[in-house]
Amino acid sequence: MLVDIRWKQRLPVPPLVMNAEVVGSIAVLRERLAEDRRTGTIIGLVPTMGALHAGHASLIERAHRDCGSVTVSIFVNPLQFDRADDLRHYPRTFDDDVETCRRLGVDFVFAPTATEMYPSQPSCTVDVGRMADHLCGPHRPGHFRGVATVVLKLLQIVQPNRAYFGEKDAQQFAIVRRLVADFNVPVQLVGVSTVREPDGLALSSRNRLLSPSERQSATALFHALSEAKRMIAAGITDAEIVRAGARGKIPADPSLRLEYLEIVDPDDMQPIDRIAGPVCVAGALLVGSTRLIDNLYCVPSTGHAFRPQPL
Ligand code: AMP
Repeated sequence: MLVDIRWKQRLPVPPLVMNAEVVGSIAVLRERLAEDRRTGTIIGLVPTMGALHAGHASLIERAHRDCGSVTVSIFVNPLQFDRADDLRHYPRTFDDDVETCRRLGVDFVFAPTATEMYPSQPSCTVDVGRMADHLCGPHRPGHFRGVATVVLKLLQIVQPNRAYFGEKDAQQFAIVRRLVADFNVPVQLVGVSTVREPDGLALSSRNRLLSPSERQSATALFHALSEAKRMIAAGITDAEIVRAGARGKIPADPSLRLEYLEIVDPDDMQPIDRIAGPVCVAGALLVGSTRLIDNLYCVPSTGHAFRPQPL
């Protein structure tokens, strides 16, 4: 007689493993999702470029809480890379990613090839206008055109009820919000807060490209942004003074190069001179040859931090 002796051997009971069907074809994914749609299941989409980490996991977990069916797309979109070597070196950990998706109970992993997504060079792409005039835009020509184009395609392919984006990529999320509004895309967007290492470094797929000493120095960006947040909360309203204070937190280390540190309106991503409401302080730091971005949402002091109680 076969007996389950795992309890005797104290072997761990395997976790509940969900399916996470890997689909490469747009037509097949549409077919699968049509079944969910027919039954009125809420469909969630989490677009990613893979090399999944705990930041991606928090988007997936949130989608899982809100939706009956979750699709994670894994696609390193060539259209959004302005440098061929950056595209070539972008981390790829597909098998681990599928395992992570299984563990998190994802229903579909949509992993198309570049040819499936772009059978020919697209003629129509999304012009994001002035939303790309600052922050990463001028440093990565064509990047946000590529991002907006692939996000619109993914939204058309999956037609989710909800789509999940990280606040870590603040400019990207602002552009996606604008894209959805401008093109009347029937989807609810959900922003998820940035997941950080205990020392403040924002999780990023690119962190795995850092050497141990670069990893140590990489927290400089978070420290600079935190200094800006502190100054803004303390009531400093001159953006130039805040920027100078924040930049001063980047150590004179030859492996660090601050690409930009800007203070912008969180909705239209335009620079602000005088801080009178919530702002987004965002920066890009080159650590060796790895480019990291981060941002903090900062709220100015109201000037009423201490209000004595009437006697
Ligand atoms: P990526 O694979 O880098 O394109 O990121 C896919 C999604 O995950 C984007 O919406 C990112 O903003 C989000 N994301 C990346 N890193 C983090 C993080 N540390 N915390 C929360 N969301 C993140």
